[in-house]
Amino acid sequence: MYLGDDRREVLGNKNTIVQALNIYRGVEVASHTRNHAPLLKCDRVRVLEEIVYDYLRLEDIFGQKIVGMAYPGRIPNYDEALAQFIAQYTSVCFARTTLCTHRFDFPVDFMQWHPTMHILDVQAEDIVEKFSDCQEDALLFLWGHAFELDYDETRWSRVEKLFARIAQIENAVCLPCGEVYRRYHARTTGSQTDG
Ligand SMILES: [Zn+2]
Repeated sequence: MYLGDDRREVLGNKNTIVQALNIYRGVEVASHTRNHAPLLKCDRVRVLEEIVYDYLRLEDIFGQKIVGMAYPGRIPNYDEALAQFIAQYTSVCFARTTLCTHRFDFPVDFMQWHPTMHILDVQAEDIVEKFSDCQEDALLFLWGHAFELDYDETRWSRVEKLFARIAQIENAVCLPCGEVYRRYHARTTGSQTDG
């Protein structure tokens, strides 16, 4: 259960596993830890439990290899040492932070992958227009939680409009994070990876 800005209660688990399997068919799934744990406050054993138990369960449920995660909780929710630890001891290949850049560059370190913006960013529409003007390879990386859209009636329609605008941008393709990761590495290493 979450409380929205207007203190409305919103369910974070309103879908059953069977419903989730239908809703997210064909969608890339990533870990967000087992308990939305503040990883910087956890010892290393707990970090592994939170991440590995979570992605093993997700792999069982969704029948896909999980190679990505998003650091849970409020900033600061990760640091360099934690990112390196996760990369070394789990099968996570990329991890999204919540540090929005408002830029369109590809990540320097995929284990500290900063998004462009939150889907409800107050500047979202302007940022999308800037992205549509880009002449070179550019990455518009969006993040958000589905439950945040239930806080009030305006949010779903605002995000639907934003996505409709993004879908109109010529020469832009919509990719899940894992595909961006694979294409980036295939290009920089000159070889194809099957991930
Ligand atoms: Zn979260």
